[in-house]
Amino acid sequence: KEHNSAALIIGITGIVGSSLAEMLLLHDTPGNPWKVYGVARRPRPTWLSDKRLNYIQCDISNSRETISKLSPLIDITHIFYVCWVGSEDCDLNGSMFRNVLRVVIPNAPNLQHVCLQTGIKYYLGVFDERYKQEPHESPFTEDLPRLPIPNFYYDLEDILEEETKAKLGLTWSAHRPALVFGFSPCSMMNMVSTISVYATICKHENKPLVYPGSDFSWDCYYDVVDADLLAEQQIWASMEPKAKNQAFNCSNGDVFKWKHIWKILAEQFGLEMVEYRKGQKETSMAELMKGKEPVWDEIVKKHKLVPTKLNDIAAFWLADVVFYSDNRVSCMNKSKELGFLRFKDSTKSFLDSIEKMRAYGFIP
Ligand code: NAD
Repeated sequence: KEHNSAALIIGITGIVGSSLAEMLLLHDTPGNPWKVYGVARRPRPTWLSDKRLNYIQCDISNSRETISKLSPLIDITHIFYVCWVGSEDCDLNGSMFRNVLRVVIPNAPNLQHVCLQTGIKYYLGVFDERYKQEPHESPFTEDLPRLPIPNFYYDLEDILEEETKAKLGLTWSAHRPALVFGFSPCSMMNMVSTISVYATICKHENKPLVYPGSDFSWDCYYDVVDADLLAEQQIWASMEPKAKNQAFNCSNGDVFKWKHIWKILAEQFGLEMVEYRKGQKETSMAELMKGKEPVWDEIVKKHKLVPTKLNDIAAFWLADVVFYSDNRVSCMNKSKELGFLRFKDSTKSFLDSIEKMRAYGFIP
């Protein structure tokens, strides 16, 4: 037998999908040896070149295509759903997830567990301005009730429960990470690549590193999760009998302040740092970076980087959301009590992500 477990990662080019593939292909990962299938919308990018990864280009919003590409994968034992469409549309995100489950559950007789990734918007509410809602007070615990507004996370967690009932013994876990630190240049929400690209553009234009956020976010406590740690938690939950059929928060287990990360960012890119000054006029990174696509193309050419488009590698809107938010911390006690004791220093997580992006040639 070549493998003990077979994973289907939906969202393989994403920030967590790419980490999951790396973790599963390590020789000492629980459940090993793993066969890994990875699904994404785009053709296989050159940086995802591990030959052991079975890459499948498939648009899972198209049910016919999903049937034709995923129904032959009869050896799948675990699904890791780390995907969203890039908008908070409940129907679209829901039907994509359903399309996958309705193909794999009946066709893969050894399917054991489905991991779904949602996030702390479960407690905060959605980005969509139409549904402004007072968030829960942090620290967030998994048992907090849902907010009374539409949220595709709620739909996905309901679909997870409903669809897995179709197969006796099939279990699930839902993972609600904090902001993720990782290295993918194809993620729709990668904070590290976003602020690294911002710093690179400041450097290219001989400008200092200005913090375009609020007074509050500069100095408040914040938590994040390393993409590798989140992948480890998902693999743990898919193997640990006590962790079945429930939701888990996921963070690195420490807190930091953006003013500390800003200093490290300036050091990493050799920039003068401009501290947040009380009363400073509010700025938006998305505004500051408007029209910089040709500048990024120039930087890519100058430093012979892996070709990327500015809007793929950076999500300046995300920096605006994060730098205008306040104290938020997730409680990690639940998965700790059940035996998941891993943690990561968030500063190291930030530096490791930058180092990896450099090693892959995504940033100079
Ligand atoms: P991502 O944006 O990094 O990657 C998305 C992946 O989904 C890509 O591989 C993309 O190809 C794939 N995909 C999108 N539409 C597809 C389609 N129609 N067919 C096939 N593949 C498709 O993803 P992410 O950031 O890991 O997000 C997954 C979930 O985690 C989302 O619900 C997100 O809100 C949540 N989350 C993300 C973060 C973060 O910081 N990135 C933090 C907390 C929660």
